This record gives sequence, structure tokens and C-alpha cells, in this order.
Amino acid sequence: MANYKITLLKGDGIGPEIVNQAVKVLDKAAEKFDFTVEYDEALLGGCAIDATGVPLPEETVAKCKASDSVILGAVGGPKWDNQPGNNRPEAGLLGIRGALGLFANLRPSVIFGPLKSASPIKDEIIGDNMDIMIVRELTGGIYFGERGRDDDSAWDTEKYSVAEVERIARVAFDMAMKRNKKLTSVDKANVLESSRLWRQTVINVSKDYPEVELNHMYVDNCAMQLVRNPKQFDVIVTSNIFGDILSDEASMIAGSIGMLASASLSGGKLGLYEPIHGSAPDIAGKGIANPLATILSVAMMLRYSLAQPEAAEAIEAAVAKVLETDRTPDIYEEGLNKVSCEEMGDLVCAQL
Ligand code: ATP
Repeated sequence: MANYKITLLKGDGIGPEIVNQAVKVLDKAAEKFDFTVEYDEALLGGCAIDATGVPLPEETVAKCKASDSVILGAVGGPKWDNQPGNNRPEAGLLGIRGALGLFANLRPSVIFGPLKSASPIKDEIIGDNMDIMIVRELTGGIYFGERGRDDDSAWDTEKYSVAEVERIARVAFDMAMKRNKKLTSVDKANVLESSRLWRQTVINVSKDYPEVELNHMYVDNCAMQLVRNPKQFDVIVTSNIFGDILSDEASMIAGSIGMLASASLSGGKLGLYEPIHGSAPDIAGKGIANPLATILSVAMMLRYSLAQPEAAEAIEAAVAKVLETDRTPDIYEEGLNKVSCEEMGDLVCAQL
């Protein structure tokens, strides 16, 4: 029987509440699909600053590296707002991504049927459902390029190597092969030299994936097409900065921040799985947080790191079913049952 070692980084705010529900669901899936999970916990973010003085202790990096995968809740909160920039909770997040070599960020933007009314986009544009996967390069480009400032100017540099583009392109093509075999590469090749290298490299990699239908789109057009006709997209691959912006746009189309999962992957099996939302300090400890984004992150982990696709599908189906009747306050609709964070975890387990 397969046994997986999972490190839990519960973090701050609602982090512990939502991760506890995700663990419950993972345990239930393990029982049903015949595998076992061993957990270890480590500190990241504000709780790590309180306990050790730094947002990313060495011990946390070591534990994560020694595990099959990592589940993260959320970090940050007003308590640590006065920390200097390099010692803020968010610095811990950037630090762990770097330390684990997580260069690919996967953000699905999915609308579950029962939540269609949460989308700001008209019904006839969304259709029966929407399911886009954005693959964002996470460790290169302008966020990490050379920067500087003098008396009256400042500059940042967008720089990509062929190797950096190749590895993210392969993640995206592999993803497209597992989905509808359609990939859109987004760039600004009409203006930027780095985008021209990006496009040429993606075309070169495409020769290894003859079954995938590849098209290219300028980022400004993509921003428009996402709201005009989101159904045209299956997998989108793009640079760090364009992915940052487009994935937030795509998540707004889905409507509810408490529902969206994400994964950050290195070349190997190890991944870091987390909800896209933050630590929601305004509702922390009240028991009303929506744990579904974290539960759906566990489903992604089962699919992309642990090779348990059936368990992943079962969790996603259970979530869709529970949403027909039960909702946490953030996605509540008249006539349905209003449930707590913990009750939502129990309902998904029962449906599994
Ligand atoms: P960050 O900068 O870390 O993203 P933020 O405060 O801008 O922090 P969130 O923490 O994601 O963003 O919270 C934004 C709003 O969404 C808050 O009002 C929060 O209560 C709500 N929210 C976020 N996540 C959830 C959740 N899982 N369940 C219910 N409400 C949530």
C-alpha cells in the first residue's frame, strides 16, 4: 500500500481551520482508495516569526524537502504588518517557493455548476461550465530580473533563458495532454524581445507534442478574451508577470475566492498546494471560513504529486454534490443550508 509523507504548513489566520478540514478529507480519501498518509507540521509565516523570529525557519525547509508534498493554509495578518519587508510573513512564502525550486504555478479557474450565479459574467457566455488551467512561470522574468534606481528613474528587467521557457512549456504541454489538448501561449511578442524568445521556444517544444493544438495570443488580447469568451481556453501558459495578472482575472470570472485551489510544482513529484486566498484575518477563529479551496488543493495534490487521480476526482465530485445543498456564509444562497467550516469538511467526507 502506498504511504505518503505530507508536511502541513497551517500558517496564520484561517490557515489552521481550513487545513484541518483538508486533512480530514485526505484521510477519508486514503481510507477509501487504499493508501496511507503520515503528517508532519512545520511553521511558516507569522506563527513562525512569533516562535522563532523568522518567517521561514531552516527546520521548515528541511521538513518540506523530506516530504512527498506540502499543504499550505495561508500566511500573514495585521499583527505582523510592522515587520521589515524581508522579515514579513509573505517573505516566508517566497522563500519556501525558492527553496523547493517551485517554478510552475498552476491555477485552475473552475466554475462548479451550482455556483454559476457567483460569476460576474453572463450565463450565456459561461455556458454549462468553465474550466481553465493557467500555468504561470514562477521564478523568472521581471520579478526576479535586474532592477535599479537613480535620482530620477527606476528600471526592472524582463529576462528569460531558453531553458527557463522550455521547462515551463513542458509542464503546460503535459497538462494539455491530460486535459483537452489545447494550449494557448500568451506573450507580447509584437513588442518585447523576451516574448519573441518565449514564443520561438514554445514552438520548438511543441514539436514533441504533435497532438496538442497550440495557439499564441498577445496578453492584451488574452485579457479581453477571458471575459468575452472564456470557453475558448483550456490550458494557458505564460510568464511570471502576465500570469500574475491573468490568473487573478480568471479567478474573478469564477466568482468566489473561497473555492479556488492552486499548485506550485518543481520538476519532480514534490509540490506545494494551497488555496489562492489569503489568511482572511477578518473571519479567523469564527469557524465560518470556506475550506473548499484547500480541500480542492488536496485533490490537485492527489492528481499531480501522488498519482491518485481517482481519489482526486472523487473529492471534486463530492464537493460539487455538497454545494447543491450546503454552503459556508461566503457563498450562501437563499434556501440552502448555511454551514460552518467544520461542518463543510464533514459533509465532503460523508459524500466521499
Ligand atoms: P492577501 O493579501 O493575503 O491575499 P487579503 O486580505 O487581501 O489578503 P484574503 O485574505 O484572501 O485577501 O481575503 C479577502 C476577503 O475574502 C476577506 O474579506 C476574507 O474574509 C474573504 N475570504 C478569503 N478567503 C476566504 C475563505 N476561505 N472563506 C471565506 N471568506 C474568505
